[in-house]
Amino acid sequence: MNEKPDKLIDKKGIRTDGRKADELRSVKLQVGVLSHADGSAYIEHGKNKILAAAFGPREVHPKHLMQADRMVLKVRYHMAPFSVQERKSPAPSRREVELSKVIKESLEPALFLELYPRTGVDVFIEVLQADGGTRCAAITAAALAIADAGVPMRDLVVGCAAGKIDDTVVLDLYDAEDKLGAADLPVAYMPSLNAITLLQMDGSLEPAEFEKAVGMAIEGCKKIYEMQKEALKTKYMVVKEVEE
Ligand code: UDP
Repeated sequence: MNEKPDKLIDKKGIRTDGRKADELRSVKLQVGVLSHADGSAYIEHGKNKILAAAFGPREVHPKHLMQADRMVLKVRYHMAPFSVQERKSPAPSRREVELSKVIKESLEPALFLELYPRTGVDVFIEVLQADGGTRCAAITAAALAIADAGVPMRDLVVGCAAGKIDDTVVLDLYDAEDKLGAADLPVAYMPSLNAITLLQMDGSLEPAEFEKAVGMAIEGCKKIYEMQKEALKTKYMVVKEVEE
């Protein structure tokens, strides 16, 4: 979308992509998609297409990063040059360095870091196609890849954003809403533990709108959590059938 439409949401509460205010984009998840990774997952969240590969627990490289009393989680978020409309340089941008850091911090609370000293888990995230909300979709896929690698976890982590377009608080902004809207609030959440592990905000919201947006994002996370569990079960049901 090149020009800002008059309205991002019409009088009937319908957004420019046809969704209602509290409606998620369609989400598809698949676990165990890469044979050379210990664990992997693929997510399509709206038009976002993202792969996550997880390795470990294994030796930490470079060695000086090893911690004597805990596991080290390393995350690399990377966007393919063809993932966005205007070619992105393949070299890591400031934004990708920041997103790698916030994604790592959103996943760490789910891991028993202290139980695996001197080891590392590495997660590589490749955004193949981006349409707003890639950090959230990447978190959803990365948590699945770590689980698929067999790394014990307190809970899965799910990412989902809420925000504000025109005067309305909405769930799960896509690229045009993210760029032209009033606020974007990405959230990562561990549903079983009812704990938020990432909360960021671009733009501005009134306190009541902020509360509504956080609540909406959490509800979105809960819906995606059900799909995450299904995706894990689907892979292992297939494995079980093959073994039988
Ligand atoms: N984007 C882009 N070019 C870039 C970086 C981002 O077109 O170099 C788009 C992409 O669709 C992305 C959106 O801008 O999803 C919003 O980016 P943001 O930094 O808010 O992160 P995200 O919402 O993807 O977590």
